[in-house]
Amino acid sequence: MPNTLIIGGSVAGFSVAAGLREAGYTGKITIIDPHHTALDRPPLSTEYLIDDDVDLALAPPEWFAEHAVTWVQDTAVELGQGFVQTRTQRFEADHIVIATGAVPKTLELDKPVYTLRNLADAKHLRAALRPGTKIAIAGGGLLAPELATSAKALGADVTVFTPQVPAVEVFGELAETLYQTMTEEVVVVPRRLTIDEDLTRFDFVVAAVGIDPAVDVALGSGVTIDDGIVVDEHYRTEVEGIYAIGDVCRIQGQPRQDHWDHGRASAARVVHTIMGTKPEAPTPQWVWSDQFGHDVQAVGRVVPHAHEHLVHRGEHAIFVVDGDQVIGAAAIDDHMVIRAATRMITRGISVDPAQLADTDIPIRRLTR
Ligand SMILES: Cc1cc2nc3c(=O)[nH]c(=O)nc-3n(C[C@H](O)[C@H](O)[C@H](O)COP(=O)(O)OP(=O)(O)OC[C@H]3O[C@@H](n4cnc5c(N)ncnc54)[C@H](O)[C@@H]3O)c2cc1C
Repeated sequence: MPNTLIIGGSVAGFSVAAGLREAGYTGKITIIDPHHTALDRPPLSTEYLIDDDVDLALAPPEWFAEHAVTWVQDTAVELGQGFVQTRTQRFEADHIVIATGAVPKTLELDKPVYTLRNLADAKHLRAALRPGTKIAIAGGGLLAPELATSAKALGADVTVFTPQVPAVEVFGELAETLYQTMTEEVVVVPRRLTIDEDLTRFDFVVAAVGIDPAVDVALGSGVTIDDGIVVDEHYRTEVEGIYAIGDVCRIQGQPRQDHWDHGRASAARVVHTIMGTKPEAPTPQWVWSDQFGHDVQAVGRVVPHAHEHLVHRGEHAIFVVDGDQVIGAAAIDDHMVIRAATRMITRGISVDPAQLADTDIPIRRLTR
C-alpha cells in the first residue's frame, strides 16, 4: 500500500491530507506535527488575539478517524529518501511532503521582544497585552498593522516602527490608503527600529520583521536549500519522493511566497503530483488582511510593469491591466471587485479599462 508522510499539519500540510483523500488516495497518510491538531494561522493576529474563544482547528477531531489520517504529535528531526526520523520514532514512506512553514525573525534589543507564529506565541502575547501597556511593533509587512489593530483593541498604547509603507508589494497603491488609516489610529514612526532607539518608554516590543523558512529538518537530506527548499512547479525537490510546499518552499527562479493561499494552492498541486493527475490551470495569488476595521484583499499582481497600466475604480479599488487583460486587482472593503477580477484573470475575459473605472457599471456585468 502506498504511504504518504506529511511533516507539518497546518495550512499547507493539512490541505495535502484532505486533498489526497478527496482525490481518492487509498494509501496510508500520516501527519507529524508538535501541535495537538491541525490549526489555522491568520486568526492568531486578529480574532484570536482579542478573543481566545476562537476555534483555530482546521477540522473537528473526528475528521482524522473518518478520513483515515493518522496525527502523530511529534517533531521531525531528520529525513532522507524514503524515511523520516522524529524525536521518538522512524517512519518509512513513499512520498514525503515537507510543510514545516517558517520561523519568525526577531530583534536583539534591551527589552522583552515577542514574535507571533503559533498558538503558544499568541497566548504569551495576549497575556502581556493589557490596557495601558506601552508597546512598540516593528515591521513593514501585513502582520504589523494587524497586530497594531488587535493591541489597540485590547487597550494597549501602540507605536508602530515601519521603514516603509507596509505591504506595498501586496496591495500596491492601496497600501498608501491603509498606511494613512494606521497613522490616524496609532503612533507611526517611519523608520526601522534599531538598538539605537530609546526604548525606555515601552514595556515591550513585538517583532513582525519577517520570517525564515523552517528548513532545518531538511538539512543533509540532499534537497537544495536557497531561501527555502527549492522545488519545481510540481513542488518536487531534487530528491525523488520528497516534496516541499507552503511557506517553507520556493519555486526555482521565483521569489518565495508566504501567504495562506499559496499554502493551499501548493498543497492542491502536490496532490496532483502524488496522484499523477493533471492539475488545473493555476489560480492567481490571493492575499487578504484585516486591519483597523477594513478588509483589504488583492488578487494577482497589483504593481504594474512598464507596459501595463493602473485603472482606478473609485478610491478603494485598483486594477492592473495589460492591453485588454486584467493582471491583478486590490480593493478595500469590496470583495465583489476581487471576485470579479479573479474571474477575469482565470477566464481571460477581455475588459475595457474605461468601463472598469466606471463605478456606475456594476462590476459583475463586466465578467460576462
Ligand atoms: C499571525 C499570522 C497572521 C497571518 N495573516 C495572514 C493573512 O492575513 N493573509 C495571508 O494571506 N496570510 C497570512 N499569514 C500567513 C499564512 O498563515 C501562512 O502563509 C501559512 O500559514 C503557511 O502555511 P504552512 O502550512 O506553509 O506553514 P505553517 O502554517 O507555519 O505550518 C507549519 C506547521 O509545521 C509544523 N512544523 C514545523 N517544523 C516541524 C517539524 N520539524 N516537525 C513537524 N512539524 C513541524 C508547525 O508546528 C506548523 O504546524 C499569517 C501568518 C501568521 C503567523
